[in-house]
Amino acid sequence: MKIDLHCHSTCSDGALTPVELVQRAQQMQVDVLAITDHDTVAGISAARDYAKNSNIKLNIIAGIELSTSWHGFDIHVVGLRVDKDDCVFLKRLEGQLAERDKRAERICEKLAKCGHEGIYNVALEIADGAQISRNHIARAMVQRSICTHPQQAFTKYLGKNKKAHVTPNWIRIEEAIQWIHDAGGQAVLAHPGHYDMTTKWLRKLVAEFAQSGGDAMEITHPNMAADKKKLLQEIMFDNALLASAGSDFHFPSRFTELGRRLDIPLSCKPVWHSWNLATT
Ligand code: AMP
Ligand code: MN
Ligand code: MN
Ligand code: MN
Repeated sequence: MKIDLHCHSTCSDGALTPVELVQRAQQMQVDVLAITDHDTVAGISAARDYAKNSNIKLNIIAGIELSTSWHGFDIHVVGLRVDKDDCVFLKRLEGQLAERDKRAERICEKLAKCGHEGIYNVALEIADGAQISRNHIARAMVQRSICTHPQQAFTKYLGKNKKAHVTPNWIRIEEAIQWIHDAGGQAVLAHPGHYDMTTKWLRKLVAEFAQSGGDAMEITHPNMAADKKKLLQEIMFDNALLASAGSDFHFPSRFTELGRRLDIPLSCKPVWHSWNLATT
């Protein structure tokens, strides 16, 4: 069974609409797909409706990727099997959206001070109603020929300690876990191998995540080196967490694909061990 528990649609910073994600998942023979947009569950219904109406046998898990702040790091917490209609949860997400808007404006004010005016409106247009993210600002900068590639926007302006970086005021990790649990879901530490931190800090992060009630952590990613996988598994076992895996797919490319190379070793207990995958 092909399971991918982390991907993005145009409801946040992905390139494919929820419908296109379902079509691609079908092409890639994915059986279970969690749609985990940044701080929103807006894409789930459209994906499910399309799969149902087209008779596509894809189990779509209602997911989210919450942004949190921890010791100056942006830490992402994925929620799986959340109730996407839970009023309290949706109300809470409005706060994250307001923070996203505020941060985007502040980033663009800093860019204006660097001589690049008017980026906010271009980014808003590119976001087209989605949760605004730094990815949209990066694309706006490419469109305005300030950068040649979105990656360059991060390395020169938007990344940590760069010219237009703004420290975000996201919720704390404990809050994200609580929100996810209150909405009936499981909390997964996203891509622990991608934070720019030492192994000592990584161990501290995972330990705090587990102590705060976190359920699982992603332990594999396509292109991850074997020694990194080994380290993540060791930290997972040390903290008695379940294992999860997702592509973090944003757009089709040579390097990223839905459901590709996400196998979890048999020695690990997967986050879906208690799910009834036939009926989820
Ligand atoms: P935000 O949630 O607005 O802070 O944006 C974070 C998103 O920007 C991540 O989910 C990635 O998709 C993207 N991103 C973050 N850092 C980089 C980077 N260094 N290069 C390219 N994309 C990045
Ligand atoms: Mn993203
Ligand atoms: Mn992330
Ligand atoms: Mn992601």
